[in-house]
Amino acid sequence: AARTDAARTLGGPPAAAALLDAATRLAATLPVTPSIAFIRVGDDPASESYVRGKAKKAAELGLHSAVYALPDDTTQADLHALIGTLNADHGVHGVLLQLPLPAHLNADAALACIDPRKDVDGLHPVSAGLLWQGQPGLRPCTPAGVMALLDHYRIPVAGQHAVIVGRSALVGRPLAGLLLNADATVTVAHRATPDLGDVTRRADLLIVAAGQAHLITPDMVRPGATVIDVGINRVPTDTGKARLTGDVHPDVAAVAGALTPVPGGVGPMTVAQLMMNTVQAAQNQTVHGHADQSNGASGELLR
Ligand code: ADP
Repeated sequence: AARTDAARTLGGPPAAAALLDAATRLAATLPVTPSIAFIRVGDDPASESYVRGKAKKAAELGLHSAVYALPDDTTQADLHALIGTLNADHGVHGVLLQLPLPAHLNADAALACIDPRKDVDGLHPVSAGLLWQGQPGLRPCTPAGVMALLDHYRIPVAGQHAVIVGRSALVGRPLAGLLLNADATVTVAHRATPDLGDVTRRADLLIVAAGQAHLITPDMVRPGATVIDVGINRVPTDTGKARLTGDVHPDVAAVAGALTPVPGGVGPMTVAQLMMNTVQAAQNQTVHGHADQSNGASGELLR
């Protein structure tokens, strides 16, 4: 059927390229080569592929990286011991624990062992607290990547009503903090919200991170709104091959003012932001004036 796509497409790759370029330029000002350590446990193919992609991007930027692939029967104590070793290693600026972990391991306890200055995934309780206090710190990569994408496309945030669908520790919650810090009026909807459409229709800026394919339909979007689709869902096709689709129905393009595609929207921003976080962590740990602080203090970390 013919469809008039009113929405401007907010593509991830150009915004990610700009962020990677900024990370490269910042890295060039530092006295050290930023270095990131990846920890992965077990043999989940998705985790393996994510870590490989992140390490490849780090190499492309000229950053150092090392991958610690631990066996499936790794104990909590083994994991904490490795994190402790990496925390103490002055040559390592970022420590990333790839999630999910095997069921017998406690991810929250392991994340809490990471030195907050090296917490490039921004998931340590100290990083979460600093975000909520509006203080400088390392921010979770996907939400910070969304903010970088909005900034790249000059989408206004201050004074706008932002509605987030989803309240996960990884995306929805930290995004609420980032948007508040950027002077948006923020509403967070979730599984227990009785009439989702009633809430989403109020959004100038609608950000969806619910992990439900096509949860957001055109009737749930205010005409002209900016819609950011954080969802990455694998749906089966007729050919039997899985296809990637977002949390936002494609027909929303006829109503929205601007829309991120899936794939090719928010996805590339996450890895780019991880690179920026690694460079900023290295800056905070090495550059005079940053070294004595328990958390980052560069202006760029504030948002
Ligand atoms: P993520 O991958 O974004 O971290 P999670 O699966 O951890 O996502 O969390 C999904 C979030 O989306 C939860 O906060 C949940 O309440 C919300 N959510 C899931 N389904 C719906 C729905 N049908 N309506 C509103 N919110 C939903």
